[in-house]
Amino acid sequence: MKKILVTGGAGFLGSHLCERLLGEGHEVLCVDNFFTGRRQNVAHLIASPNFELLRHDITFPLYVEVDEIYNLACPASPVHYQFDPVQTTKTSVLGAINMLGLAKRTKAKILQASTSEIYGDPEVHPQTESYWGRVNVLGPRACYDEGKRCAETLFSDYHRQHGVKIKIMRIFNTYGPRMNPDDGRVVSNFIVQALRGEPITLYGEGIQTRSFCYVDDLIEGMIRLMNSPDDVTGPINIGNPSEFTMRALAEKVIEHTGAQVDLVHMPLPADDPRQRQPDITLAKTKLDWQPTVSLDEGLRRTVDYFRRTL
Ligand code: NAD
Ligand code: UDP
Ligand code: UDP
Repeated sequence: MKKILVTGGAGFLGSHLCERLLGEGHEVLCVDNFFTGRRQNVAHLIASPNFELLRHDITFPLYVEVDEIYNLACPASPVHYQFDPVQTTKTSVLGAINMLGLAKRTKAKILQASTSEIYGDPEVHPQTESYWGRVNVLGPRACYDEGKRCAETLFSDYHRQHGVKIKIMRIFNTYGPRMNPDDGRVVSNFIVQALRGEPITLYGEGIQTRSFCYVDDLIEGMIRLMNSPDDVTGPINIGNPSEFTMRALAEKVIEHTGAQVDLVHMPLPADDPRQRQPDITLAKTKLDWQPTVSLDEGLRRTVDYFRRTL
């Protein structure tokens, strides 16, 4: 049984991770400032004697004793990370420094939830870990992209300079139950719109692509990475390589909800990446991991969740 800190533990991915770690018999300290996370995401865990929930902002130091740290705290939806961009960069950079300082002092292993966004609008397709990326340093997404890039730099320097045991995970678009209905990301937006009988908002022509991973697959990959040998530091891509246009996603959501709604076009946000697909060769060879849930199956489960909770 380990003592495990999950930052951003009341968010979408964090709540699934806390649940999974508790299920494996570990003690879980969930830290969150509730910027985008919700207490209700972890309400079913509160009764467990191995679960503790702490309101805390990781841009401030945190002194606790732990064996492992999963650093997930950071808003992930463009709408939310652009709402207070300075705070987003602080969360990524100061948050990483504090959590790495904590890992250094306690000799805990630490995993960083990095992102495919560090590849920016990529000219290499699919994206391999060796690709350096193409990010607009001054654009509206930079607070997130550059913050996450700097966090990766800090992780690799704490590893080289201080011998901290690190794991860098580059997460590609992930969806599933417990996404906030107001999250603003595409899968939850489309499902919530369809279920409410509202038009589906397609940004631009809808020909941009993403590759969507179901949350259970993602969490499995995250835990395998944390438990991998110490020399597997990453970065390592975790995502589902099946790539779809946003128009195709909208059509699938209409099919799964049975909704009779229109598609409306809205302006394409600045610097919106045109295509994205993970190369997961490294995850397959180093972690023996690959996704198992198809987009159709994942959408079915996610639509079920939103039908029950909306
Ligand atoms: P989310 O917004 O649901 O969760 C983020 C959590 O972090 C929220 O609970 C929020 O309240 C908390 N948080 C934000 N700033 C904080 C701070 N300063 N101190 C403490 N807590 C703070 O998003 P998610 O999808 O669960 O993403 C989790 C992590 O995974 C993020 O780091 C995100 O960048 C990364 N990621 C997610 C995806 C995805 O598709 N879901 C893709 C790439 C990377
Ligand atoms: N820190 C923390 N918890 C700890 C240890 C450190 O929050 O248990 C923070 C501390 O505020 C510090 C940061 O992590 O600013 C980086 O720590 P490190 O030891 O690398 O740097 P230093 O303390 O020398 O600045
Ligand atoms: N998108 C869309 N309609 C929406 C929300 C998003 O067409 O209501 C598009 C968005 O422009 C982007 C893609 O869907 O091309 C994925 O957006 P999301 O915000 O989910 O993630 P990210 O852009 O960070 O991959």
